[in-house]
Amino acid sequence: MQDLWEAAIAELRAKAPGSFDRWFSSIQFDGFTDGVLQLRAQNAFVRDFVNEHFLSLVRERLRERTGLTIDIAWTIDAALPSPVAPRPTPSQPPPPPPALAEQAQPARVDAPAEPIAVQAAAPVVARRIDGLNPKYIFANFVVGTSNELAHAAALAAAGAGSVRRYNPLFICGGTGLGKTHLLHAIGHHIAATRPGLRIVVVSAEAFTNEFISAIANKEMDQFRTRYRTQCDLLLMDDVHNLAGREQTQEEFFHTFNALHQSDKQIVLTSDRYPHELERCTERLVTRFQWGLVADVQAPQLETRVAIVRKKAQLEQLDIDDDVAVLLAQAIRSNVRELEGALIRLAAQASILGRRIDLEFARGVLASALPPRSSPASVDDVIKAVCNHFNLRSSDVLGKDRHRSVAHARHVAIYLCRQRLKCSYPELGRHFGHRDHTSVMHAVKKVEALRVADPEMRSHLDAIERKLGS
Ligand code: ADP
Ligand code: MG
Repeated sequence: MQDLWEAAIAELRAKAPGSFDRWFSSIQFDGFTDGVLQLRAQNAFVRDFVNEHFLSLVRERLRERTGLTIDIAWTIDAALPSPVAPRPTPSQPPPPPPALAEQAQPARVDAPAEPIAVQAAAPVVARRIDGLNPKYIFANFVVGTSNELAHAAALAAAGAGSVRRYNPLFICGGTGLGKTHLLHAIGHHIAATRPGLRIVVVSAEAFTNEFISAIANKEMDQFRTRYRTQCDLLLMDDVHNLAGREQTQEEFFHTFNALHQSDKQIVLTSDRYPHELERCTERLVTRFQWGLVADVQAPQLETRVAIVRKKAQLEQLDIDDDVAVLLAQAIRSNVRELEGALIRLAAQASILGRRIDLEFARGVLASALPPRSSPASVDDVIKAVCNHFNLRSSDVLGKDRHRSVAHARHVAIYLCRQRLKCSYPELGRHFGHRDHTSVMHAVKKVEALRVADPEMRSHLDAIERKLGS
């Protein structure tokens, strides 16, 4: 429960450390009683000030984590320190960084039948490094078939793998599937193993903003020094956000060339493949493909179960095995949501004083999950496919044999067959009166590509996510 409170006030602490220290040193958190947050203040003035200035944010954070609206009960306790008293400075030295050799060892999930090994004493956070999330280390990343290529390539980029190093490494895939986690893990590993290297971690968004303000303030020299000269490892998150920003792309093109020519490792993440990037110059797209493009897909059930267990272990939550399976079955396409559901579950259990068993988890999940949507129709599938490939339904339903249109048509036919169990003649009728052998051919073709071609897999995954698989 202390954790929940700490988490709720963490943002305040980070945003306004000075006033946070001043005011929060004079209030005391006494836990939750029957779902009511118990706080003590040194006097009524402190109580009212904290109430008025800080507590709406705290309650908001508590609501996000627990799904509950939390009431607050105050008591006055004159024995607490007064708010102006400076806080004693902590006398302990910061803890030493965890042994990094272990961090490179991921929890591995392959065969569903095998019990999943989660290391008991794995380090859970890394040394603090600006811009890197301390929890995003290799040891906390669960490897399964959906992400093993990206993981191996990330290890290699960090100089820790047996695979050869590729430059750039381009990690792509849907949201909440671990791209940022891998990106930061590379940073942590390099920081620990080669402390002399200068790591620059930046999102494409932040790069753009820094670039714009560097121009405005006539600080382009400093900007270029930071990104070209004083950078040995560039970690750039979400490069799809460079879309349409021509000047920033131009600048980044030169940044990229400078780093690449001096053999500095570049790692990029994106929510799509390089060739799918919109409004991105051809020469950048080409460079993104120079090294290795590694995708992350939605994890399979066994991997999701392992991820829930791993997170529970990291958060020191005691959950039953069947609860991990329940969560993994309920939330399929996004690890961030899976994690959110686990935390909400834990927070509610802690506030209500319940154990996280199957019955409790079912209750919480039932109220949190959106009601199951009605099954999709042929029209829904066509709409989702057209939307994904940027076509009109009339294209897909018509006779156009142009490759990209035919491709989308095959995907739509395949999805209708697979999800709606339409018969071949029925499919033929829906798709512009084609004969049933040609629709059968389309289904077989996509089936085969789904196995052989990662790009097809990623298209299908994206469309299926839209349809709510
Ligand atoms: P993305 O950048 O792809 O949108 P993130 O890297 O931010 O996704 O991941 C979202 C959350 O899910 C993070 O908390 C991350 O730690 C977690 N996560 C994703 N994939 C895994 C995995 N394979 N093992 C452990 N945690 C994962
Ligand atoms: Mg991300």
